[in-house]
Amino acid sequence: MTRVRFAPSPTGHLHVGGARTAIFNWLFAKHHGGTFIIRVEDTDQARSTAESETMVLDDLRWLGLLWDEGPDIGGPHTPYRQSERVNRYAAVARELLDRGVVYRCYCTEEELEAKRKEAEVAGRPPHYDLKCWINRRTDKGNAEQTPHAMRFHVPDDGDVTIDDLIRGEVTWKRESLGDFILIRSDGHPTYNFSVVVDDHDMEISHVIRAEEHLTNTHRQVLIYRAMEWAVPLFAHVSLILGQDRTKLSKRHGATSVTAYAEAGFLPDAMFNYLTMLGWSAPDGRDVFDRQYAIENFTLDRVNSAPAVFDPQKFEWLNSQYIHAMSAAVLRPLVVHSIGIDTPWLEEAIDVVKTSVHLLPQFLEVLRFVTEYSTPEIDRAFASAVAADLREHGAPHDADAVKAMNERLKKATGLKGKELFMPLRLAMTGMDHGPELVRAIPLLARASESDPGVLSPLARVEQCIR
Ligand code: GLU
Repeated sequence: MTRVRFAPSPTGHLHVGGARTAIFNWLFAKHHGGTFIIRVEDTDQARSTAESETMVLDDLRWLGLLWDEGPDIGGPHTPYRQSERVNRYAAVARELLDRGVVYRCYCTEEELEAKRKEAEVAGRPPHYDLKCWINRRTDKGNAEQTPHAMRFHVPDDGDVTIDDLIRGEVTWKRESLGDFILIRSDGHPTYNFSVVVDDHDMEISHVIRAEEHLTNTHRQVLIYRAMEWAVPLFAHVSLILGQDRTKLSKRHGATSVTAYAEAGFLPDAMFNYLTMLGWSAPDGRDVFDRQYAIENFTLDRVNSAPAVFDPQKFEWLNSQYIHAMSAAVLRPLVVHSIGIDTPWLEEAIDVVKTSVHLLPQFLEVLRFVTEYSTPEIDRAFASAVAADLREHGAPHDADAVKAMNERLKKATGLKGKELFMPLRLAMTGMDHGPELVRAIPLLARASESDPGVLSPLARVEQCIR
């Protein structure tokens, strides 16, 4: 049974890196017909907030990553919020105490800091000096009342090798690790402990997470071993870098999913782009839908080298989605983005969408409909256009526009660019925009349904005045 989890720490927005990790877990689950779980890692009480949890879950939903078990919907291993599982961590720590691999450590933070400094000066690794491990047998009586942490003793056979599904074999030597804390003196578990207890309890089969947690895996595997629990398979996904090849951060611009949503990126495009940060399609395609990604997603196609976030490529990909979407589907998104809702909007979207990369750009490219600033054009030419519009009415389709162009050619003696540029200026007030065979019928219809839009005739009349 394939069971994977995305385990966000609710300390802010969902960021691009976290979103990519969530996508890989989701795709892996879907590809194998498995279960995708959300577990909220909120044991850092100072930094975790309920608002952040809500934002992160909203961002996941926006990306279309729905989960099968999680803090809001529950599941067979409720609760899915670490702050509600502290009793369980305490129980496992007690069991490890009974097994003799965990001991109470009474050393204070000041003591530990002094020891670390000493070790540094002496050129030793900053490992715990084992004082409380050595004294553990005399640890009786009021031991439980005195403030203490629960510390894990790294066993002599504490070398660990994993076969990471992305990075291959990784080995750690016992000596690289000092005894480490599982439960702090305030009763809160450390990340390395709670994550193991939860991954075990929630029957996680594959841990797919960010590379930064690779070094934690040594400690985590030792805890599994001490509890005689099955160790899950690990897959550590590489970093995302900015174009200067440093870790992607605020310096590189927007990094949260929310910021991209607000900038007018589409969830499908973001899903597609983030999937490509590390994974490549077997046939090399750049644009793919979720179904294709689900069918083809395997970890052996995930690159162990870092991925570079390319905002231009992302924007290009977003434009591909906008161009491929029908105006009817785009309409509500555009309304939401630019705050304009009119009867002519859908037709207008269809006319201009191929020039848009981001939803808010619709505002700019639709300006020729909503606004008209009178251009400088030849008055005789404008009069000829006005006469034609009065006699034949405004053209409502491409054929009618072509017929008008033929008549204007005859009436003015102009052709090609000489004809179309002043005509474009007269109709739209601008020297660029969508093709006239679509723009003019749009203006004709829009002016009939919306008194705020000037008709083709009213426009050209302004050029004569
Ligand atoms: N809560 C951790 C984080 O946000 C995830 C840990 C894990 O996946 O094991 O980085």
